Amino acid sequence: MTLPEAVVVLEQAALSYPSPEGEVPVLNGIDLQVRAGEILAVTGPSGSGKSSLIAIMGGLEQVTGGRAFVKGTDLGKAGEAERTRLRRDFIGVVFQAYHLVPAMTALENVALPLVLARAPDAHERAASMLEAMGLRHRKGHRPAALSGGEQQRVAIARAFVSRPRLILADEPTGNLDQKTGESIISAMFEMARASGTALVLVTHDASLAEACDRRIEIEAGRIRRDSGMLVAQKDRGALHAGLSARAN
Ligand code: ADP
Ligand code: MG
Repeated sequence: MTLPEAVVVLEQAALSYPSPEGEVPVLNGIDLQVRAGEILAVTGPSGSGKSSLIAIMGGLEQVTGGRAFVKGTDLGKAGEAERTRLRRDFIGVVFQAYHLVPAMTALENVALPLVLARAPDAHERAASMLEAMGLRHRKGHRPAALSGGEQQRVAIARAFVSRPRLILADEPTGNLDQKTGESIISAMFEMARASGTALVLVTHDASLAEACDRRIEIEAGRIRRDSGMLVAQKDRGALHAGLSARAN
């Protein structure tokens, strides 16, 4: 069986932040491939590097060691313009805090990525995306007039509207109650499945992680487990054997 194309490839990826005391290492020796259509949960304690992992996959931070490829583009070698284009055309992001533009209506927020990309049918596509997210009657509302769950639905519609191949969602239900969170996640899963979009989902919710195709656990900047399999970083052969066994 051939594997679906890899949308993200990290090879010994490392990230450190400068500080007055010197470089602070945050991610180390990350080897990871995310395949087209795969729904991957990222779990791990607070401060372990989950958001940093999302940031390197999204080209928001550049690796300080190893390599990061998205859609075959080496993010370490790509210039700012190329990374911006990749983010716009290929990647959608969803954050815990929604990050909508307060002065814009739901429709305008969702249309924004398409307007920036000069798509002629921006508002029509945004409207049908909002309808798919169950917000037909909220198109003209500004974020302040929407509930947290509705705001996150708008943010998800905005993330999917440009038909990205990769969605990066960093604790998207972190500010929502359990029931609202679950309905939002199922809408997001449905959308990802329908469009064959890869989804990387950072979550603290064990049952949510369980519902994903695959789980990785980050601890102190390293992948400690991959789908329940204990991954000793020094024993990378075992990881690759496990992955190819699963692929067959
Ligand atoms: P998580 O999302 O798992 O809680 P993060 O990726 O946000 O973890 O952070 C991992 C570590 O990197 C933390 O120790 C955090 O303080 C540090 N860190 C994150 N962003 C920065 C930054 N911009 N500058 C310096 N240190 C940072
Ligand atoms: Mg985080």
